[in-house]
Amino acid sequence: MTLGSQKAPSVQSKGEPPWLRPRSLYVHVPFCAHKCGYCDFASLAGVDDLADRYLDALAQEMRRGLNDRPSVDTIFIGGGTPTRLDARQLERLLALIQDLVELTPSGEWTVEANPGTLDAQKVRVLAEGGVNRVSLGAQSFQPSSLKALERNHHPEDVPRAVELIHPWFQRWSLDLIFGAPGSSLGQWSDDLERAIALGPSHLSCYGLVYEKGTSLWKQWNAGEVLAVAEEVEHDMYALTIDRLSDAGLRHYEISNFARPGHESQHNLVYWANDAYYGFGLGATRYVDGVRSSNTRDLLAYLRRIESGQEATGPTERLGSEERARETAVLMLRRLELGIDRQDFRRRCGLDLDVLCGESLSRSVARGWLIDDGRRLKLSRSGLFLADTVMSDLL
Ligand code: SF4
Repeated sequence: MTLGSQKAPSVQSKGEPPWLRPRSLYVHVPFCAHKCGYCDFASLAGVDDLADRYLDALAQEMRRGLNDRPSVDTIFIGGGTPTRLDARQLERLLALIQDLVELTPSGEWTVEANPGTLDAQKVRVLAEGGVNRVSLGAQSFQPSSLKALERNHHPEDVPRAVELIHPWFQRWSLDLIFGAPGSSLGQWSDDLERAIALGPSHLSCYGLVYEKGTSLWKQWNAGEVLAVAEEVEHDMYALTIDRLSDAGLRHYEISNFARPGHESQHNLVYWANDAYYGFGLGATRYVDGVRSSNTRDLLAYLRRIESGQEATGPTERLGSEERARETAVLMLRRLELGIDRQDFRRRCGLDLDVLCGESLSRSVARGWLIDDGRRLKLSRSGLFLADTVMSDLL
């Protein structure tokens, strides 16, 4: 399959817009061995004793929210560290999901894994339980960067984990972070080479973000660590694009690269602004045009679900214009698909040029967007200014 022919999961029934009824499922597992310095996810260390109780609550929440065993095209179990669960708990989670949704025969089922928590038994449980894609959080192969990011695995854990998953999974992804404090362009180049040598079918490369409130942000705010200079970060991103393209990994989203046909189908749902189910601590869902998120407080989540209440926190129903603008921004993240004017009108019921023609023309005139009449896409220079281009659309 070429990227041009790839589609986000299709509409459930004829005539129903894809943002109404989900064809994708996200399930969150919040447990981690240790809290990494940059982490702003709903993740917790030192509470593994709550894992069985959490799975009970998750089962209750999912049984309430999923009626008539809906059919889905993608499933994503993220975290946290799903592979922090032991083999028996993982088996239980996979069986629960299989019981409550039907994955279409060509569907994608991804589980996030941490190189330090994967073993042969867990890999077998995943493969035999229906999972067909693993996303491995490598982040870096440099001991100094892993230390700066406060990761608790070692560089050699990554090839060890790859060796475990290789016989079972054709589709697997590595996550890398560039711009760790103290890192150089040479070290990032080495990270890319070591990642390529492992032969992943997909790579996600994110620039480090200092999220407010994290341990790393506190150190940076106190002047204890220095962020990598902007020009170096720019060069790291440029090198990523060039080197991975040379290695046959196509740049299909701002931070994502894949061999043709190995793009993340689940994430393509997010980038089309289509509907999805979400369950578990801090999980977000987008169903019937309403986006809502669960609480990020583990004990509150458990108590609320156990007492028959919803664990939902903030909820927003997007107006049609707001949803259309958000959809335009998300679609621009897709480098080859971009925003297709016809597809946009079909999904949003609005004309793209009437909605944000002025902003788009400004970015086209500056060379940040390419307009071929049918689609608008980020140009190479626009990639480096994507935030500016996108915020102009909102
Ligand atoms: S392993 Fe991932 S989710 Fe867990 S603390 Fe580290 S970055 Fe956060």
